[in-house]
Amino acid sequence: ICIPVQTELCSNHSFEIQTIPPNSGSFDIPTSLKTLALDGYFSFEDIEHAAKDFGNIYHYLPIAVLHPKSVSDISSTIKHIFDMGSATKLTVAARGHGHSLQGQSQAYQGIVINMESLERPSMHVKTCEAPYVDVSGGELWINILHETLKHGLSPKSWTDYLHLTVGGTLSNAGISGQAFRHGPQINNVYQLEVVTGSGEVLTCSDKQNADLFYGVLGGLGQFGIITRARISLGLAKRMVKWIRVLYTEFSTFSNDQEHLISSENPFDYIEGFVIINRTGLLNNWRSSFNPKDPIQASQFSSDGKTLYCLEMAKYFNPDETHIWNQNIDKLLSELSYIPSTLFLSEVPYVEFLDRVHLSEIKLRSKGLWEVPHPWLNLLIPKSRIFDFAEEVFGNIVKDNSNGPILIYPINKAKWNNRTSMVTPEEDILYLVAFLSSANPSSTGTDGLKHIITQNQHILDFCAKTQLGAKQYLPHYSTQDEWQAHFGPQWETFVQRKSAYDPLAILAPGQRIFQKGN
Ligand code: FAD
Repeated sequence: ICIPVQTELCSNHSFEIQTIPPNSGSFDIPTSLKTLALDGYFSFEDIEHAAKDFGNIYHYLPIAVLHPKSVSDISSTIKHIFDMGSATKLTVAARGHGHSLQGQSQAYQGIVINMESLERPSMHVKTCEAPYVDVSGGELWINILHETLKHGLSPKSWTDYLHLTVGGTLSNAGISGQAFRHGPQINNVYQLEVVTGSGEVLTCSDKQNADLFYGVLGGLGQFGIITRARISLGLAKRMVKWIRVLYTEFSTFSNDQEHLISSENPFDYIEGFVIINRTGLLNNWRSSFNPKDPIQASQFSSDGKTLYCLEMAKYFNPDETHIWNQNIDKLLSELSYIPSTLFLSEVPYVEFLDRVHLSEIKLRSKGLWEVPHPWLNLLIPKSRIFDFAEEVFGNIVKDNSNGPILIYPINKAKWNNRTSMVTPEEDILYLVAFLSSANPSSTGTDGLKHIITQNQHILDFCAKTQLGAKQYLPHYSTQDEWQAHFGPQWETFVQRKSAYDPLAILAPGQRIFQKGN
């Protein structure tokens, strides 16, 4: 099964529609799939949406889309393909909300399973000492937030954007500003129900089928399809104090960030971002943030500068405002930001967590959401973050007009290292996310080609200087690169593939293993 897979870059965003797959051998696949007794159904036409994702760069047309109504629909389909053995190259991709970046939830001439149509009994919240919610693998995090809040509870670890599915983020990690305290989302799961690559339905947890449990978490969809997850919950607050401050020196900024994630500070969320040569930045913030000192803030100019913004948030209930204001003032007095750049805001908890959705609505209205997104996400060890920042923000990236660049440290002591996710080997890591949008008709610095080349320069710099960086939401063309990515964990990854998906049926869009025949 370990055959390197070639990538295919379709920058013209068009794809050929083929109804007879080249790999079907002697099987008439649609007829054979129609023999399955299902609660849901297969679509063989109007399935172009399954060849699209948020990245909008790779487009692989499947042969069919399964709209499952039950776990048994998923299990029967996979069993059917498994039983065909190597007579067909047919593969299966679970598609959550399709917000992958490089075709990871697609299956060329295979079957895409539309996980959002999986019908489960309604979400079940358990309000015990260690509260949790049982949800479908195709559930969106935004729905989980609304449901759990009815019980005064909420998940503890998030992504910045909540219109993603549980199965999609748990296959990666799920990292946001809460990860320094609670670890990523994959460390906040008690139990999973999984359909393996042979169609077996298994429940797994730290105590039961633990190898499968940890394999699936961060496992890039390689070992099974998550049909149910038990997510750990904490008490929810109603409001959020949201704070931004600016720095001109990277070292002062990162020292303050590291101080905040390692001390027993009261913040619930720590992130940060880089601003390179932006005009009128603070004026833009004024629509949602209030400057502490409006006169001094109005005199501050970001033009021509590289600035670093530290972003903090504290969750609270309205009757606790006074106590938290005092605590936060004390903590802010320990930081070394530019005094005139303290900006504050208070927003409801849901609005804070769902903040990227507001940007989505604005971008959609301008036709700027469904453009190509050549994103690059990296995990950089703390010992080399200064070298990285100096070269990348000083020489490689000349401005960030193509999109935000996030940068924040995460304390790995809070992470469980038994999952499939690989990270650099240091206690503190920085997540650096280049979240670029490309203008599809441009050949200039906002065009796809330029941004992909710039991303490659960043990756080349990391490789040349042996920075010890790892890609997050990784994307590679050859199996050698995957092997280097996993390093010492590669052997375990391959063993798990042989154990849980021996024919390499699952998640072909990750391009790690190729189904042989
Ligand atoms: P899909 O794209 O549908 O699938 C992703 C992969 O998981 C595919 O390989 C697919 O086959 C597999 N998969 C899907 N469902 C299942 C399942 N039930 N069982 C097994 N495998 C499955 N990530 C972060 O960590 N932090 C962030 O803050 C963050 N912000 C984001 C903001 C935006 C606007 C976007 C577009 C993405 C962001 N991401 C973030 C990345 C996101 O977590 C991943 O792209 C995630 O995979 C998307 O979830 P999805 O439901 O769309 O998954």
